[in-house]
Amino acid sequence: MGNSRVLQDADNQVNSGYGWRASTGSMHLGVDLVKWAGQLAFVIAHSDGVVEYVAKNVPGYLKGSFGNQVVIKHNAHEKTRYCHMKYGSITVVEGQQVSKGQVIGYMGATGNTTQPHLHLQYEVDGVAVDPIGIIGADLPGIYANLLVDGSWGDKTTKALQKALGVAADGNFGPISIKALQTKLGVRADGVYGPITKEALQTYLGVVADGDIGPITVKALQTKLNNGSF
Ligand SMILES: [Zn+2]
Repeated sequence: MGNSRVLQDADNQVNSGYGWRASTGSMHLGVDLVKWAGQLAFVIAHSDGVVEYVAKNVPGYLKGSFGNQVVIKHNAHEKTRYCHMKYGSITVVEGQQVSKGQVIGYMGATGNTTQPHLHLQYEVDGVAVDPIGIIGADLPGIYANLLVDGSWGDKTTKALQKALGVAADGNFGPISIKALQTKLGVRADGVYGPITKEALQTYLGVVADGDIGPITVKALQTKLNNGSF
């Protein structure tokens, strides 16, 4: 499957990525997509397929539940699962053929959530894998999928560049530094010195001592991962 949308509008972003969640001590098996300012959006089929499963009787909060959901089988191996959909909004039935881009319902907050969002799972041979590869191009918000290891390498630089809207070439040179300085509200002189470093630390909410060590880099990687940089 190539990239295509799962929400109608482009201004959605990943609120929470696929992977281990320290807060719950469990794996998060999909990505959570939200709209700016808590708006709702139509949920649309990622690509052609057959509706394999529909759950539509969850009126609101339900602990441990995906709420109202639709599972679309795209081929012998791949399925997408759309969860927490708004009660009464699902427009498809089991066995129905759907086309890429077809509206299947509305984003909601049913099941184990209080915030409206779309939990999207991408399952290959029954195993939930990171959906970002199939929807990544949809997301103007950055979702970097970085290892939060405190080590500022090439991937971190590229993710930062993407978040700053400059060419993601891995070269943290004057253009990137100026974009960072503009974002941080300090003089954009392209020099990555103490003022810029301390401003970056303040922005990240860590101690502003000018020492860009593992704690600062972890904070940076976390923000890049969750799209909040
Ligand atoms: Zn989720």
